[in-house]
Amino acid sequence: MRITMIGSGYVGLVSGACFSDFGHQVTCVDKDEGKIESLRAGRMPIFEPGLAQLVASNVAAGRLTFTTNLAEGVAQADAVFIAVGTPSRRGDGHADLSYVFAATREIAEAATRPLVVVTKSTVPVGTGDRVETLLRETRGDIAFSVVSNPEFLREGAAIADFKRPDRIVIGSEESSDGERAREVMREIYRPLYLNESPILFTGRRTAELTKYAANAFLATKITFINEVADLCEAVGADVKDVARGIGLDNRIGRKFLHAGPGYGGSCFPKDTLALLKTAEDFESPVRIVEAVVQVNDNRKRAMGRKVLKALGHGEDGGDSRGKTVALLGLTFKPNTDDMRDAPSLAIAMALTDAGVHVRAYDPEGMAAAEALLPGLVCCADAYEAAAGADAVAIVTEWDVFRALDLDRLAKAMARPVLVDLRNIYHRADVESAGFTYVAIGR
Ligand code: NAD
Repeated sequence: MRITMIGSGYVGLVSGACFSDFGHQVTCVDKDEGKIESLRAGRMPIFEPGLAQLVASNVAAGRLTFTTNLAEGVAQADAVFIAVGTPSRRGDGHADLSYVFAATREIAEAATRPLVVVTKSTVPVGTGDRVETLLRETRGDIAFSVVSNPEFLREGAAIADFKRPDRIVIGSEESSDGERAREVMREIYRPLYLNESPILFTGRRTAELTKYAANAFLATKITFINEVADLCEAVGADVKDVARGIGLDNRIGRKFLHAGPGYGGSCFPKDTLALLKTAEDFESPVRIVEAVVQVNDNRKRAMGRKVLKALGHGEDGGDSRGKTVALLGLTFKPNTDDMRDAPSLAIAMALTDAGVHVRAYDPEGMAAAEALLPGLVCCADAYEAAAGADAVAIVTEWDVFRALDLDRLAKAMARPVLVDLRNIYHRADVESAGFTYVAIGR
């Protein structure tokens, strides 16, 4: 199959590279010239484990190419995937579909023959209908079939997720165009379902909603355990044991029950908000998700206060002004360089607002963080960040922070205080190295 991917970001690039690895002929398009230039030079514009090798081998095999010229990519394609961003619209929280519709118009103008257009971007219910109308209005002479194929990969494990997905969801309409589209999609995903990945054919609106329901459910699970963590602190229980105690029940499951600083990232915050907007538009409220969004927003700010409290802020008149905090981990999760809506941003801002100097180290996120947090002191490793600090806060659980030399860390600091917002340490180990230890829900 000849596939064109519009948008070569975290999703488009990984999906394109994986499809080419299955043997398809893939063209990845992006309007960002810098991105395409680096890809052509063999440099990855994002950090994703395994991606550079996957791209290099498929480029060498002649199955994967990069271009800024959308028309060139679309002209020969059997299927065109839209994988552009759908951020929150400024001001109201609806998904901003301007990139999706701009790409749709360009696809319509460039089409030369019947085409399957697939929305891989996360888009609100009904977007497929609007994409279809736009295509038809722009080019009445071409037969388009519009399919929803939401993506469930996780940054940091994106290639494994794409190649061994829990499920593939394909939403299309019941029509002859729909049947043609399902055939093309079956062909594209054949290597996966031959490998026994479940493939679900649904209506298009159902597929669109499935993606939002999945993200909202996961965000709910995280937020649930975060509130239980607060309750654990209040009553003297241990959230790690509670999470294990409930998670071993198969009906609940152990994943996404790690208490922490609140969910962030490029998907959950914007997708939960967009789901609220869809629910409002259709007058069918999702009150649980409303609570999740509110609780999570409050939590990010509360984490800033938690670090300030560990510095003595507000207790016995203690003031943190002029003190120094080292933040370890800035990206919204490990194994990515993605800083979008990372909890570290709210925490760093709360600290700076209180007059605290913030030093930081992240294995892959420093460049993106520097642009978002003016005044941040960027360090070369955890020990350099901790130099002279009054507290160290672990914000993202990169592996490199799991086995810190605690004696060395304590010696580097002005005052050995460790705020472990990811609960990766045992209290006894940390305290025996002379630290005051502050964790979550324990
Ligand atoms: P991204 O910002 O990393 O990439 C989007 C790319 O599209 C950018 O490089 C941009 O330059 C390009 N682009 C925008 N308009 C274009 C156009 N008209 N022509 C060509 N290129 C264009 O975004 P992402 O993280 O890859 O997310 C893409 C979509 O996938 C979003 O809807 C997101 O919600 C969804 N999604 C993301 C993830 C994730 O983990 N990042 C997971 C599942 C789903």
